[in-house]
Amino acid sequence: MDGIVIKCPNCGDNVKIDAQTRKGICEFCGTEVLQPRGRFNSDETVQNELALCYKNFQNGDFATAKKHADGVLAISIDNAPALYAEAYYDTYASVKHTDAALPRFFDQVADLALDEGEMAMLLDMFKLTRRGVENFEVQILRLVCSQMNNAQSIVGFVDDFCPFLIAKRGSIAFFTSELAELYKQLAARCTIPKTCYALLQAIDKNPASPILHDEFFLRTKTRLFYENYMLPLGGIISSMNNEELKTKFYHVYQSKLLNYQKKLN
Ligand SMILES: [Zn+2]
Repeated sequence: MDGIVIKCPNCGDNVKIDAQTRKGICEFCGTEVLQPRGRFNSDETVQNELALCYKNFQNGDFATAKKHADGVLAISIDNAPALYAEAYYDTYASVKHTDAALPRFFDQVADLALDEGEMAMLLDMFKLTRRGVENFEVQILRLVCSQMNNAQSIVGFVDDFCPFLIAKRGSIAFFTSELAELYKQLAARCTIPKTCYALLQAIDKNPASPILHDEFFLRTKTRLFYENYMLPLGGIISSMNNEELKTKFYHVYQSKLLNYQKKLN
C-alpha cells in the first residue's frame, strides 16, 4: 500500500491519493483531489505503525522500530519520527552502517512543517538517543526555533537536552558561532536557565579551559578559549529575558571574566 483512499468531494466515489504527490484523480468524475501532509499522518495504519515504531525505539529495539517506520513511510513519506527511526537505525544499528543517514535526515526535516504531535515525539526520540545526535545540536535547535511556538515547551526540551551535552563536551569545538547564535536567540525568547548555567560551569570544567588544570602559561590555549568561548558566552547571558536571572548569571559571568582577563595579560 502506498497512499490513502478518500471520498471524492464532488461525487463521493473512492479516490486513491498517491503518497508521493499527495494527489489523486477521481476515476468516476475526473475531479483532482489534493491532501495536506497532516492527512497522511492521521491515517489509521500510519498511527498504528508509528505507535509500534515509537514503542520499540523507546525499548532500544531499533531494528523492529525501523520495520514499523517502513510501514509508516509507505503511506506518509515524510513522517519525521519514522524518518528519524530509519536514520538512527542506518547509522548505529544496521550492519550496513552509513554516516550519511543522519545529515540527510536533518536536511529533509528542515523544510517540513511538522505537526505538533510529530514534533513532540521526535524531540522525545532525540532525548532517548542524545549521545547519538550530539553532533547535530545546531540542526536540532534550528528545528526547535522554527517549529515550536510555546516558550514553556521550548525551555522544557532545551534545558533537558543541552546541559547534558555541554557537560560532556571534550573541547569547545561544539561551540560554533552558529550554535552560540542559537543559544542567544533561545535565551532571548525563553531564558533557558539550565542551559546558561551549564555554559557558565563549562568555563571551569571544559577540557579546553586553561582554568581546569591551571594552564594559563599555555598562551595560545588561553587566548583561544577567551575569544571562542568566554566572549560569545557573554552575549548569550546578556540576552536572557528574565531580568532577575540575567542579573544573577551576569554577575557570575562578569567575575569569572575579570579573573580570566587578569591572567590573560
Ligand atoms: Zn468524483
